[in-house]
Amino acid sequence: MLATADALGRLLDAARQVDGRERVDTLDAGNRVLAVDVTSPLDVPPMHTSSMDGYAVRAADLAGASEGASVALPVSQRIPAGHAAAPLAAGTAARIFTGATVPPGADTVVMQEMAQVSDDGRVAFAQPPAAGEWITRQGADIRRDSVILPAGTRLTPQALGLAASVGCAQLDVVRAVRVAIFFTGDELRMPGEPLEPGAIYNSNRFTLRALLAKLGCEVTDLGIVPDRLDATRETLRRAAGEHDLILTCGGVSVGEEDHVKPAVEAEGRISMWQIAMKPGKPLAFGAVRRGDQEDEAFFIGLPGNPVSSFCTFLLFVRPFLLRLAGVKHVTPRVYSMRADFSQKKGDRRNEFLRARVNESGGLDLFENQSSAVLTSTVWGDGLIDNPPNHAISAGEIVRFIPFSELI
Ligand code: AMP
Ligand code: MG
Repeated sequence: MLATADALGRLLDAARQVDGRERVDTLDAGNRVLAVDVTSPLDVPPMHTSSMDGYAVRAADLAGASEGASVALPVSQRIPAGHAAAPLAAGTAARIFTGATVPPGADTVVMQEMAQVSDDGRVAFAQPPAAGEWITRQGADIRRDSVILPAGTRLTPQALGLAASVGCAQLDVVRAVRVAIFFTGDELRMPGEPLEPGAIYNSNRFTLRALLAKLGCEVTDLGIVPDRLDATRETLRRAAGEHDLILTCGGVSVGEEDHVKPAVEAEGRISMWQIAMKPGKPLAFGAVRRGDQEDEAFFIGLPGNPVSSFCTFLLFVRPFLLRLAGVKHVTPRVYSMRADFSQKKGDRRNEFLRARVNESGGLDLFENQSSAVLTSTVWGDGLIDNPPNHAISAGEIVRFIPFSELI
């Protein structure tokens, strides 16, 4: 059995960014990966803007203002957002609104709550403002010609907003990674179908498809494949041609009904099998030949138990797919948190325990850590990464990977 860190290292070493890029509308580019740097053609904001509703002034004009002797200025113009501003005449104030251009000559905005409009149309100020107040400077967010998003950035909602803020209507992204997925198990039925004795629902299809969708992959779902060597081999051959990665679920252990590993060995090669982790030990990695060609599609075989396939996807498939898509930083942030439970020593496998953050900021453990109990993954907020042969005592600091880092 391979240690998890070694297995992940080998997996990532094998990953190469896929060839090809495409231009997509920024609105549709969520979860994709930038193929080139995005450089800003302009300053953001493009001009000095007011960050308050109030009055644009020269601070020096109000230097002598006090409670007893307020300074009143005539209002020389009105500047709503989106409209041009004329230079501010000396000794006057400009009525201004949030997001509007600060007129040339003004150096300060006084918020309207600090100003008193009088009957003669003048506006009075009872204290001197801090010079420069309530102005967002031109280029305060982004400087023209600076790289705002480097190639290899995964496009989060915030990143899309940033790209749009410099006027990018379209973005050059790495072509979507193509993944074929199939599920093995004669016991599997789809929700909506009747469940005869011995059958269970194919829950993994829903978990894994949703996880793949979040990674921006192009997915071909080949459905449920019978527990037979010939059927498994044929499906692998079919999947290899058009896809970067073939992902399978179930049938990868050592039982007589587990045909995935021998099928991959016949159609390609297995380069890694059995990881010292719990859940997820039978995880397999390899490749499947593409017809008569020299090249091959990557293969990852996930175990069938729902918690095992979920955890191995998060810890191995996710970083692998991100690497194929050209993302540089693919490992999740790990947090040091207090265990508010104790747990007896495990075996020589690295455990990934489903845990939840409690109200005092510590971690509670889900009572049933069986790899068949999917409830633990919904109850939990993340995984405790517990080293081999390690007992956890209450109060101890443990390594916690929140699902938000992984999904
Ligand atoms: P296997 O890895 O094929 O030995 O399956 C291990 C366990 O996971 C068995 O109890 C299977 O019935 C269950 N299982 C396999 N595939 C799925 C699936 N797609 N959805 C839900 N459970 C599954
Ligand atoms: Mg099976």
